[in-house]
Amino acid sequence: MKYLLLLIVLALVFFLLGVKRARPPARPPQARPPAPPAPQNMVSCMQCGLHLPRDESLPGRGGVFCSAGHRQAYELEHGGPT
Ligand SMILES: [Zn+2]
Repeated sequence: MKYLLLLIVLALVFFLLGVKRARPPARPPQARPPAPPAPQNMVSCMQCGLHLPRDESLPGRGGVFCSAGHRQAYELEHGGPT
């Protein structure tokens, strides 16, 4: 019974070693630098022409806008939401 336990422990050790060896070498955490942030896409408000980053723009009918008010005004001038 004692040898059985020893065998199990040895099997476990070899198993763990085998698993470690099978794995590809771990990369250091910062081996691959994160992709550089994409350049900010600038868009201009269809109503007033203000330039603003795309992230901050409001997409709307016919283009992007700097504010909900301009989007509404533009949509009213250009046929409305219907
Ligand atoms: Zn605007």
